[in-house]
Amino acid sequence: MPPSIRELPDELISQIAAGEVIERPASVVRELVDNALDAQATDITVRLLAGGVRLVQVEDNGVGIDRADLSMALKRHATSKIQALEDLESVSTMGFRGEALAAIHSIADVTLTSRQAQDVHAWTLDGASGELTPGSRVTGTTIEVRELFYRTPARRKFLKSDATETAHCLESIKRHALARPDVSFSVWNEGKLLAQWKRSPSSNAQEQLNARIQDVLGNDFMLNSIELHTHAQAPASAVQVLGRVGLPDAARSRADTQYTFVNGRFVRDKVVAHALRSAYEDLLHGHKQPAWVLFIHIPPQRVDVNVHPTKIEVRFRDSREVHQAVWHGVQHQLSQPRSAQPAPSVPSSSTGSPSLTDAAQAAAIGIPTPLASQTQQPMVWPEQNGLRQDWSMVAEPSPGITTHASNSFTSQQPWPLGKALAQLHGVYILAQNAQGLVVVDMHAAHERIVYERLKAQADLMQQETGLASQPLLIPVSFNATALEMATAESHRLPLQQLGFDIDALTAQSLVIRAVPVLLSASNATELARHLLADLAQHDASTVLERSRNDILATMACHGAVRANRQLTIEEMNALLRQMEATERSDQCNHGRPTWRALSMTDLDRLFLRGR
Ligand code: ADP
Ligand code: MG
Repeated sequence: MPPSIRELPDELISQIAAGEVIERPASVVRELVDNALDAQATDITVRLLAGGVRLVQVEDNGVGIDRADLSMALKRHATSKIQALEDLESVSTMGFRGEALAAIHSIADVTLTSRQAQDVHAWTLDGASGELTPGSRVTGTTIEVRELFYRTPARRKFLKSDATETAHCLESIKRHALARPDVSFSVWNEGKLLAQWKRSPSSNAQEQLNARIQDVLGNDFMLNSIELHTHAQAPASAVQVLGRVGLPDAARSRADTQYTFVNGRFVRDKVVAHALRSAYEDLLHGHKQPAWVLFIHIPPQRVDVNVHPTKIEVRFRDSREVHQAVWHGVQHQLSQPRSAQPAPSVPSSSTGSPSLTDAAQAAAIGIPTPLASQTQQPMVWPEQNGLRQDWSMVAEPSPGITTHASNSFTSQQPWPLGKALAQLHGVYILAQNAQGLVVVDMHAAHERIVYERLKAQADLMQQETGLASQPLLIPVSFNATALEMATAESHRLPLQQLGFDIDALTAQSLVIRAVPVLLSASNATELARHLLADLAQHDASTVLERSRNDILATMACHGAVRANRQLTIEEMNALLRQMEATERSDQCNHGRPTWRALSMTDLDRLFLRGR
């Protein structure tokens, strides 16, 4: 006989639900802090014992719970936050499912103490006995959760060391703290203060947010990130994005500083992650992970938060609009050359001895505003006369741009990247700007400039003739491998669209008759060989769409000025001016930085001047 069907007892239902909502002590912390925030607390204290397994206590100064409601708070599907299905459409509180306290109550010992403003004293509810006794505390609520998972030992076995569980709890509070700079948080572990983030006295929301991000994520993150606020770019958009994004060259191998919030709720979201990955495309070195803290604001009707019991996932009604807003906002901000930004005004780092990297980092930051990019200085080019022919692609004046003699440059002129002084070992350009010294990796910088130009040209011409091509006065031939022969033959059309005319000369040699105008100064054979090697890996028909940027990057790399080339001062200045005018010129195509700066203050620090 199969067993008959019976309804499960209430407590078992809660224990089953608890399996989804409460994974570890950090989940209890998350739920209790969510509740405190929903109760409009401005001061929240979390106390932990044994990684939160022995105790998670959350104390808040919120509105409190009415004595008559105390026992209701522990019931399943009991909430004060929604009443009808329509309310779900526009829910603005962190909680609404009414199951967290019930779930926790079913797998731990819970005590609730609460007092409302009009009460003469607090009331304490013992969850286990249901007994209500007078308690003592000021207005607000204290919830104590002891011996988590004592009734579900299987769960308890999955827990890691106390230190690991404590770290997870702290991480959970960090997320809340980032989302709510208007609330003070204190975290105590084993009786010792572990972290404290005070609400900032500033009434300016942006300042408040920056202060909190600095408190929670540290100076390093501030120095290596830039502010983002899409309102200035697209004031009418329903989706607004603000926060800070990490500079590409500060990206790290671990994805441990990636915070996405949707309407104040920490989420993990594939759409947002993909938009960010695209925005950092060809700015990151290797498999580095960018850092970000992004707050996405979207009308509540356009996002469903009731997707997952822990609400860590959301579903956007129109994921394209969110993708677009994030991608556009982030890539716009990252593409602003920092050399075009006003000089940074950062308090010098309070810790550690002066170091080159500190100084360079400090100099590299700046808070770009869309305004700054509009008021960028007019581009001025040194005269082309006297420049070596093979440098012409850098010095070439663009249409409609004033041409100036480079020797009219004086130190009063506010060139962000300064005036070239010398070349160091054929690799670096040293320049002097108003703040101090600028060091430029000339190959990396030139590579980015050529790449951006190739991309811009390719965009313009994609549908039509392809990249502008220049016939060589004297065609160049070279001995080719069988693969090179075959690739040249099968990729005739893509090669033409990229501006090349390459043909078989004999059974074992190729002849180059034309190259892209932008690369006419490069070593044609070297360029062709690298390009053929690249093309050999792609199917001819998809080359132009899918791998266009990869191929342009190969061309830029082999077309850009190599190390160990002696440049004249005019050539160096031409490169600096070109960098100032090129998007994304702060990183080469592989995400390495193209320039660093040391201000006079940094240099003085290095030499202990004025101490
Ligand atoms: P939810 O947050 O989804 O409503 P919970 O189980 O987390 O469900 O909480 C149940 C109810 O208990 C809440 O709706 C709220 O009315 C009350 N409550 C819980 N924590 C607090 C708190 N810190 N301050 C005031 N009320 C609270
Ligand atoms: Mg809740």
